[in-house]
Amino acid sequence: MKTVLIVLGLLLSPSEPKEKIRVVTTLQLYRDVVEKIGGDRVEVTALAHPRRDPHYIPANPVMQRKAAGADLFIETGRSLEIWTANLLRASNENNRLFASTGCTVKELPKVISREWGDIHPAGNPHVWLDPWNMKRIARNITEALAKVDPDGKMVYFGNLKKYDRALDEAMFGKKLVKEEGGGFLWRKLRLGKLDTYLKEEGIEEELGGWLRKARVLRGIKVVSYHKTWIYMADRFGFEVVDELEDKPGIEPSPQARDAVVRLMKKEGIRVILNGVMYPTRAADYVAEKTGAKVVVIPIDVGGIDGTDTYLKLINTILDKMVEAEK
Ligand SMILES: [Zn+2]
Repeated sequence: MKTVLIVLGLLLSPSEPKEKIRVVTTLQLYRDVVEKIGGDRVEVTALAHPRRDPHYIPANPVMQRKAAGADLFIETGRSLEIWTANLLRASNENNRLFASTGCTVKELPKVISREWGDIHPAGNPHVWLDPWNMKRIARNITEALAKVDPDGKMVYFGNLKKYDRALDEAMFGKKLVKEEGGGFLWRKLRLGKLDTYLKEEGIEEELGGWLRKARVLRGIKVVSYHKTWIYMADRFGFEVVDELEDKPGIEPSPQARDAVVRLMKKEGIRVILNGVMYPTRAADYVAEKTGAKVVVIPIDVGGIDGTDTYLKLINTILDKMVEAEK
């Protein structure tokens, strides 16, 4: 019997793990990336419902069991998911990945405190809404998988290459990525020199993808419910002038709403971004007073229909904003 088992073992492809690598993530969008990078080698579950506020997910015993059995646990970090503290035992620490590691964090508070209700004590944690950060996140996830499952390293890095390419093409359009290379385009974009370059080369019209779509959003001012959008705004060139929340995590007071109404009238702001997980009461009130449009948008994969991947999520957010700006 023993010999049979050994022979069987030899017959199995050496790259196939005996058991699947069990990955548990907080957000659904990390699940999507793990599936893309890990393929058949992994089995992945996400804990956060995409229509719930990721800051406040009630942790339960089922989640606890899933987290405890994970070979790899992935969360954003930067104090986004404060609820994971109750899920993880000390033994998990080695297999815990903070996906935002290496992303440049914006809105770092000068004094770190939760006393006044700020739920962004370690800077703005919503880093994934910038596709550039998503490239870093995908690499972090790839490296973490390769560490847990060294036999799969080649597979993981091969899949990362494909995923990177897909992100580049979604950002700049297939044609431009083919001609110029994704790395080159990102460098130009991050230096603020992409427009000039495309103009000089006479290939402005070859720009495709999200950047093309978001051209009409350049320079526009919007208001949002929560401080969710800074990364996306900076990348795509729109400006979030104010939030309806007085402080992140605190529901707007009537005074705060009225102050926003005055500001929006003064600045001619026509768009209010409201994440699907937040009440629209305040946004509807402000919209009624100003004639602006409330854009209810998901921030995680699966937050609304048609957003079952990260690429579709970003695409949908941009579509909705463009539609509202018309
Ligand atoms: Zn937040």
